[in-house]
Parts: sequence; C-alpha cells; structure tokens
Amino acid sequence: MSDKVKADSVERPVNFIRNIINDDLANHKHQSITTRFPPEPNGYLHIGHAKSICLNFGLALDYQGKCNLRFDDTNPAKENLEYVESIKRDVAWLGFEWEGEPRYSSNYFDQFYAYAVELINKGLAYVCFLNAEETREYRGSLTEPGKDSPYRDTSPAENLALFEKMRAGGFKEGECVLRAKIDMASSFMCMRDPTLYRVRFEHHHQTGDKWCIYPMYDFAHCISDAIEGITHSLCTLEFQDNRRLYDWVLDNLDDFNKPDRPHQYEFSRLNLEYTVMSKRKLHQLVDDKLVEGWDDPRMPTISGMRRRGYTPAAMRDFAERIGISKVDSMTGMNILEAAVRDDLNVVAPRTMGVIDPVRVIIENYADSAPETIQAPMHPQNEAMGKREIFFGRELYIDRADFAEVAPDNKFQRLALDKEVRLRNAYIIKALRADKDADGNITTIYCTYDPETLGKNPADGRKVKGVIHFVEATKAVSAEFRIYDRLFTVPNPGKADDFESVLNPDSLVVKHGFVEPGLADAPVEVAYQFEREGYFCRDNKADSLVFNRTVALRETWNS
Ligand code: ATP
Ligand code: MG
Repeated sequence: MSDKVKADSVERPVNFIRNIINDDLANHKHQSITTRFPPEPNGYLHIGHAKSICLNFGLALDYQGKCNLRFDDTNPAKENLEYVESIKRDVAWLGFEWEGEPRYSSNYFDQFYAYAVELINKGLAYVCFLNAEETREYRGSLTEPGKDSPYRDTSPAENLALFEKMRAGGFKEGECVLRAKIDMASSFMCMRDPTLYRVRFEHHHQTGDKWCIYPMYDFAHCISDAIEGITHSLCTLEFQDNRRLYDWVLDNLDDFNKPDRPHQYEFSRLNLEYTVMSKRKLHQLVDDKLVEGWDDPRMPTISGMRRRGYTPAAMRDFAERIGISKVDSMTGMNILEAAVRDDLNVVAPRTMGVIDPVRVIIENYADSAPETIQAPMHPQNEAMGKREIFFGRELYIDRADFAEVAPDNKFQRLALDKEVRLRNAYIIKALRADKDADGNITTIYCTYDPETLGKNPADGRKVKGVIHFVEATKAVSAEFRIYDRLFTVPNPGKADDFESVLNPDSLVVKHGFVEPGLADAPVEVAYQFEREGYFCRDNKADSLVFNRTVALRETWNS
C-alpha cells in the first residue's frame, strides 16, 4: 500500500471553492470544514473520481478538516460489495485516509424514512399513483409548465398510511412513489414534485431485505451530508439545478434548517481525451470483453492505471495541474502522461530490456563466462545505488538498433563497419550479419574494444551512438505489453457507436529479454527501460510480464 498524503505548508493556487471556504471560516459560518467523497458502488473508480478524491481529501488536509468516504448506496440493483472493496482500495492507494469508518447512505435508511414522514406531516410530500407515462405527461417540458398530480391534495394522515403501506410491501414496484410537493410550474424540472422514494423489491448489500422502498439520490444525499455535518458538499456541474432541491429538503427539515447546514457547490468534471468515463460505457467495455476487465491497463480506472505503473503521486500531481473550475473542457492525455513521466523520471530505477531481440556475437571476447559490470540504478541519483549487469560473448540488442547500411548520417545505431557504444559497457563494431531465408537478420557478428569500459577510446575517435543490450546467458525472457490509446478519436463518447472507434492496436504484445535483476521485480513498480519507456511488472500474470506505463516522450503509436 502506498504512503499516506500528509498535510503540508505548500501554498496551493486559489480556486472558487477555496475562496468560499476562506470566507466561511473568516465569517465563522463554520469553525472547521468537513467534506466527503460519495461514490456509488456500481463500478470501479476512474481518473475522474480521482479528481474529486484529490479535491475533497486535499481540502480536508489543507484546512485541517475532515473528509468522509461515503458509499452512496441507494440503488441496490446496480451495486455490490466487489465495488465497495475496490473503491476503498483505490482511495487508500491514492494516499488518502477517510475519517473514521467508511459510511454508507444505507446506514441512514431509518432516518431518511423519519424525515420523509416529517415532510408528509407538514403537507410537503404525497404518495402518487400516476404511472410512468402519466407522470411524464404531467411533468410538462422545458417550455411548458407541468400539471398537478390528482394525488397532490391527499391529506397528510392518508399519505402517512399509504407511505407505511409502501414500506410494508403493500404496493408493487412502479405502482406508486412518494413525491415532494414543490411546484409543478418551476422552471427547474427537478423541482416539479420530484420523486423521493420508490418501491424496489431488491436485496441490498448492506441492509439485506429490510427495505422494499429506497430513497432517491436527491433526497438521500443532502440528508446524509447534513447528518454527517458536511460543510461543503462538492459535486460536478450536472447537479447544478438539483442544488435547489438540495436546499429545499434541508430547509424544510427542522433538524437541518440552520445557518451551518451543508451547502452544495459544483465544479466541472474531468473529461479526458481518447477515453470514456461514463460508467455505463465502462461497464459495456468490460461486459463485451473488449478489455480484460476493470483493471485492464488501458482502462481509465484507478485500478487500471495502478496496474499500468502510474503512481499515486503522479495522479495527485495531475489533479493539481488540471485545477478546479466551472468551465467544462476536454483535458489532453498529454497532461496526464506528462505528470506520470515527470514523476517516474525522478523515482524510476533504470534498467535495460530488449523488446525485439536480435542476437549479437562478440567474436573477440575470449572468456567463456560473462563479466559483471556495476551500473547505476539512476544516472542522477547516486543514492539509489548500483545494479549488476553482464557483458559477454553473446548479447541481445533491439532489431531496430541495427542496419546493414546506415540509412543516413543521423543514424547513430549499429551498422556494418560502424561503431556504437553499448549502454553502461563497451564500444562494439559490426563486421557481418547472418540472415534467414526471408532476409531477416538472425545474428550480428561484432568485435568489442576492451579499453572502452566507462571511458572514451584512447586514440580520440568519436563514437556518438549509444544503444541498450542484455547479455544472453544471464538474460531473463519476458513478455512486453505495449499499450496505446484505447480509442482512435479524441472524444469517443461522442461517437454514435463508441465501440467502432476502439483502437485495434491499443495492445501489442512482444517477447524479449530483461536484465536478470528483474526476474523478481515487484509488481506495479515502474522502471525506466532505457531508450524504450517506463514499464512495470504486471500484477496478474504468472509469468514475467511488463506493461508499458508510458513512452519516454510524447508519441502516437510508438
Ligand atoms: P454514475 O452517476 O454514472 O454512476 P458517477 O461517475 O457520477 O457515475 P459516482 O460514484 O456517483 O459516479 O461519483 C462519485 C463522485 O465522483 C461524485 O461526487 C461525482 O461528482 C464525482 N465524479 C464522477 N465523475 C467525475 C469526473 N469525471 N470528474 C470529476 N468528478 C467526478
Ligand atoms: Mg453519480
């Protein structure tokens, strides 16, 4: 598990939410702040959730407040414990600690019920028997007001009896709902007598079969916030209109109609290029087996990114880089990848892996056994120490690092009659090459200059190119999974059929060799494979598999 994020004294850029909090504290509206992260356990968390997690937990840390983890579990049909567990793991992995135990909206089902009764008694809620089609018709449209339901004027006593009957299982699903009595002519559709409770004969992962009526999000969320003493309830912009309903519910309940009750503030959600973030679409990718699962390294999920080698620090840094605003926009994948590279460049140990190997024989290497060379774990950080690599008569280099004839003057790799330096080792020169029947190079015969380990040739000749290699007898074979964008277009969510714009080359599998030191590489920890990119060992495969975390530079299909 990763390190926990601690409060620090770093000055963070202000944003509109920090301005509100600063005012609320200065005006003594609140003595301290409490936020919450409220996922619905109906899927795995994605990078958009990471933005919300970093915001809510980050504010609590910066203002020495608290942040709750609350499962917004009011829709049992789509929720389950696998999702609950994955969400806890992902939040903890990002480095955040929730206040006390995780909470569940379902912990408050008795209270929601009691508050619904309070609204009924106040004449502010009624049981409505319009069917779905009638309800739609009565609701009106954006240009036309709605019509009052014929059940709107039922007396509180009668509504109470009906609501109790709903709870007792006396009505079928869809037969009736409890609605708030607000305003059928409101210009906000969500205020046209919204549903507060509906009948669902569903088993719930927390409350079992105790309930057959379940509250709607708009009713449960604000009350959960108020019960937990949340001060700033942060959500994404699509809930902007619903803020009226949030306020209406709390203002009409005696326990909560106070100046320090929670308030909702909306910020723009993260949209990331070349991927989708809608849970429905992510479910579809998993269910249709277009990816290996929720934690497929191509998925925008936190578990996918962890499996791919992204670090919690890089993801938190990404959240800071994109900032918080009220403007909807599309964030470039390059911003996320830059945050990952900037972190890994500093923390990732260096190593060599040959992804598309071709054999090299060093003809003048006399010893039968390979020799050991000490190579730095990180060229700029001596404290990371050294690793043992090997050099001997038989090596592997990457096929792309050899050409019989250099195509141009810029080619600084190995060619016949040309010299190149092997990273961390000697200068070699290619003499000739064997080919198979199809013309593919099978073996390159070379000599090495034994006087050039860690130094330039004494005669002053210049050898500019450096390529990577592994010694063949000590090398360990490995599979490399080279990942690319999951979609071919920047906004696949807009495509009529998003599956039709999947990138067929989003995963390319190669087989090659790595340094022997990587035989026991820990999973999920990224290394820089010199000249190839950042890779980490896969956390699921039984054999040695390395996932490409990110290329060394911004590229497309490379
Ligand atoms: P759905 O409602 O489709 O199930 P959701 O993405 O809204 O999915 P929730 O579990 O309700 O999922 O989200 C939990 C929290 O994360 C909410 O506060 C939500 O606003 C926030 N969140 C979800 N997606 C994003 C995003 N793309 N960017 C920022 N915050 C997000
Ligand atoms: Mg939601």
